[in-house]
Amino acid sequence: MTTKTEDFASFLAERFPDAGCTLNFHNAYECVCAVLLSAQTNDMSVNKVTPALFSAYPNPTALAQAKQEDIEKIIASLGLYRNKAKNLIALGKACVEKHGGEVPLVFEDLVLLPGVGVKTANVSLMELSSRPAYAVDTHVARVSKRLGFAKEGDDPLIIEKKLEKKFPKEMWIDLHHRTIAFGRAICHAQKPECEKCRLHEHCAYFKKTSSTKGR
Ligand code: SF4
Repeated sequence: MTTKTEDFASFLAERFPDAGCTLNFHNAYECVCAVLLSAQTNDMSVNKVTPALFSAYPNPTALAQAKQEDIEKIIASLGLYRNKAKNLIALGKACVEKHGGEVPLVFEDLVLLPGVGVKTANVSLMELSSRPAYAVDTHVARVSKRLGFAKEGDDPLIIEKKLEKKFPKEMWIDLHHRTIAFGRAICHAQKPECEKCRLHEHCAYFKKTSSTKGR
């Protein structure tokens, strides 16, 4: 590791030692659905709708038989709810047709389910089987770009590969959770609270914005 990656990891470990998944779920099915619903939506909003969703549709078989408008009513407070409702039903059907009514816990199978991209598969398997990954959401992407771990135009898959090269595998899961906590609490999209951050010397964004302010 470099001075920059070591400083980053130790700052995050100090500030967010207990950061973890903030989605509520009780099994693999609920986990995958909750992660799918969390795209472009915060976890607290997802946690508000999932109890009713899982109570009405407790497994993939029930979900496969759901009517789109009924799911939409339950998840209407979430962004992209129409698309998510469609994907949930398609996911239920795919689990019934291809995986005996269960959510598959193999990355290669999971990633092929409707609405489940690499991020959803990575995050789900991290939670369900501790499969190491430095999964990239909007917070991880923003922080990585500001600190120069990734370039502005990099997509989440490229960012993930770059992060996984820079940090040891045993740190990936903790770093994933801690980077999200850092992005939520300090390194916000708008007006990051840089005065609470110890990474100024490594941060291209900070250097750029503080030199602009000084003009
Ligand atoms: S210095 Fe500011 S912009 Fe840079 S990583 Fe820290 S909080 Fe984020």
